[in-house]
Amino acid sequence: MNKQVFSRSFKQIVSGAGALVVVVASVRCMQAQTASTFLPLLSFTLIAVVLNLRCALPVPRERWRLSPNESLLLLAALLFDGEAAVIVAAVTAFCLALRASKHWLNLCYATAATVILTGLIVIFARLRFDSMAALNQTGTLQDYALLFAVAVPLHALSRFITSGLAVGFFTVAERRHAWPKIFLRALLVSLVGAGVACLLARAFSYVGLGGFAYAAPFVVVLSGAWDAFRQNKQLQVATASKGAGALGETNESEERFRNAFDYAAIGMALVSTEGRWLQVNRSLCRLLDYTEHELQTTDLLTVIHHDDVGAVFESIKRFIKGQLPMLQVELRLRHKYGREVWVLASVSLAGHSQSQPHLIFQMQDITDRKLAEERLQHDAFHDALTGLPNRTMFLDHLRLAIARAQRRDGMGFAVLYLDVDRFKVINDSLGHTVGDQLLVGLARRLEACLRLGDTVARLGGDEFILLVDDLHDETEAITVAERIQDLLQQPFELSGREFFATVSIGIASSWTSYQNAEDIVRDADTAMYRAKSSGKARHELFDGAMHAQANKVLQLETDLRHALERNEFAVHYQPIVALENFRLRGFEALVRWQHPERGYISPVDFIPIAEESGLIIQLGEWVMRQACAQMERWQKIFPAEPPLYVAVNLSGKQFIQQDLIRQVAGIVEETGINPHGLKLEITESMVMDNVEQATEMLRQLRALGLKLSIDDFGTGYSSLSYLHRFPVNTLKIDRSFVTRMSDNNENLEIVRTIVTLAQTLGMDVVAEGVETKEQLAMLCHLGCESGQGYFFSKPVDALGAEKIICETYVMGSASQPAQQNRFVTPRIVAA
Ligand code: C2E
Ligand code: MG
Ligand code: MG
Repeated sequence: MNKQVFSRSFKQIVSGAGALVVVVASVRCMQAQTASTFLPLLSFTLIAVVLNLRCALPVPRERWRLSPNESLLLLAALLFDGEAAVIVAAVTAFCLALRASKHWLNLCYATAATVILTGLIVIFARLRFDSMAALNQTGTLQDYALLFAVAVPLHALSRFITSGLAVGFFTVAERRHAWPKIFLRALLVSLVGAGVACLLARAFSYVGLGGFAYAAPFVVVLSGAWDAFRQNKQLQVATASKGAGALGETNESEERFRNAFDYAAIGMALVSTEGRWLQVNRSLCRLLDYTEHELQTTDLLTVIHHDDVGAVFESIKRFIKGQLPMLQVELRLRHKYGREVWVLASVSLAGHSQSQPHLIFQMQDITDRKLAEERLQHDAFHDALTGLPNRTMFLDHLRLAIARAQRRDGMGFAVLYLDVDRFKVINDSLGHTVGDQLLVGLARRLEACLRLGDTVARLGGDEFILLVDDLHDETEAITVAERIQDLLQQPFELSGREFFATVSIGIASSWTSYQNAEDIVRDADTAMYRAKSSGKARHELFDGAMHAQANKVLQLETDLRHALERNEFAVHYQPIVALENFRLRGFEALVRWQHPERGYISPVDFIPIAEESGLIIQLGEWVMRQACAQMERWQKIFPAEPPLYVAVNLSGKQFIQQDLIRQVAGIVEETGINPHGLKLEITESMVMDNVEQATEMLRQLRALGLKLSIDDFGTGYSSLSYLHRFPVNTLKIDRSFVTRMSDNNENLEIVRTIVTLAQTLGMDVVAEGVETKEQLAMLCHLGCESGQGYFFSKPVDALGAEKIICETYVMGSASQPAQQNRFVTPRIVAA
């Protein structure tokens, strides 16, 4: 348990016990007190409060004061009996504590401690006497000695605890070496106090209690008068010293110093080497919101923040001894109302040779600068949206965890990489504000399910990462992942709507010995991708197989870098056919990789790697140049109206290139292709990422005279509401709908809707993946313009494609009947 939690729990328990004691004492006191003793008791309590507040003596070099409280409590017990003393203890201790701290728990704790200790003395006395009052009447010297033996140490303990409150519970604990001294001093004072209390009690038993009722108003009035007198006196002293200066008793330079001191814009103070304020200026008073008098009743130690006391006093000590040439420290002071004030304190020594030296403090308020620094520091390590640690801070924590795991046998940690499923859809359909709310909500839930010492950070976007430490084995990490997924069973309330979100989680643990923080994050990421691709809302533990797969991908990436230079790529062409008359309309250019060792590798496997590594830019340009040069030749040899076209796939990375337009225009010009014969295929996601920018890009591409097509339409984001703004010519229905068209009505309806939509928007439609006669018939029936698929031909190399053109070529225009057209009775050409 950490210090603060322990301290808080301890204080809460003591406070609770104290409250119980007060309740029991109050009930018993009500029964015991008569009307004749009630008024004196009330008056006594009032006097006790005043005496405690007025007569508390400051203890040199300590931050607490000696009050006569314990003696007064003993007196109350002897005069009014135990229960009454407990109530008086509650009132006076509370008033005393109020001066040391405004924090409710501290107040309750200090009050309760005094109440409980008083209660203990009463219980002890009851073991021997019927009542404390009886002891006062008939007690022998031996009885008093016994009472002292118990009461004095308990009183001393009470003083000790109260002093602990004044300087902070753990500051006392840290100054352990001072305990015996403080306790002995408290013991001595308690002994004297107890003696005085017993003597007074004995005296009052002769005089009677009624005297208190008369004494109370006098004490209050006298106390007020004393206060006024003291203030007046101080005023006189100050005026006298200023007057003396004016009369020339002090020399001119001293006068100048005093003026400079009094009116300085920064806080200044003369402080004795023991830390007592000798003089403070207005700016310092303003800085801490104390009056001059209030400040002078405290000392330097009182206003310095607990955590800085040790270091500051150590520096001062060394400075006074001459071990430091100068002293300038940044430290925190405590404002009257508890707030922290940062100051830059410059300290110099002053003093006459015949007098004690003293310190001159110049304190410049640097709170704003410190706050700005703290904010900068915070921002550098935290995510602005969720307030969670960011990647930098997470990696720091992770490095520490790696070092710790190496030292500890058996225990380990795990990293959980989280990605919100379908976050992009949420963001695009419900808006960024709702997306942000979801991320913040998720951050709070993740925080709630972690233990102290674990870390959750946001890596950016919809990715979060967790460090779960102190695990016995990997199954505990899986339990945490399951707990997170359980937490998401509850919906999020976003903008008044309920919303369910799921996450995919990848886990990597320290049981696969890691040296490097980045490596473990990478592996957790790989495992997360596996979780996502195997169905989302799942978790996967990184294992050897994934490691091998990751290596394979890495190897593929290396090979890919050489493949272009080594001429390992080829462009194949797949015919696109008009369904109205089965005439060849053009080809889709599809890249092929002939790996020297692994043979043919599908673009499905290497295009994503090429995209990830950025190689797609070069590769895509190469494919486009090849395809355009090829089509230009075919256009020349096989002229037709409209001309044959080639459709080239454009990757997302290519699409966001700054100089795409220049590049495409360059290729068109270099190869001499009729731009109407070039069609670029883009996907919905590419345009939906940034609608405005994408629309502008599409417009510029169209301005070059070429055509545009949306590939795999229907699978990605719902771009329906934007579709009319995109200047595209063609929608390509994704193969999955065409393949399953005959399976169920739903797919058929989707195809029908896309065809109708395209017609409404003045676009044409190409159906991908036409494999059977039935599919062809259905597509013709739906009015789909063109088709592409194995039914007509698999993708073939340039030679194969040329053969197809030859076989289907009909001189003249597309409107002529399709005699001898191979696509009427199709043969499937092997790829
Ligand atoms: P895509 O652009 O949707 O291309 C159509 C894919 O469907 C091709 O796969 C084609 O061979 C296949 N296909 C066509 N008809 C049928 C059919 O009837 N049945 C079946 N089962 N499949 C059919 P391929 O060549 O493997 O290409 C896969 C994907 O790789 C392409 O999908 C495209 O996204 C990407 N790709 C291929 N070449 C390039 C390229 O040069 N650049 C870029 N950026 N991507 C490319
Ligand atoms: Mg395509
Ligand atoms: Mg496609």
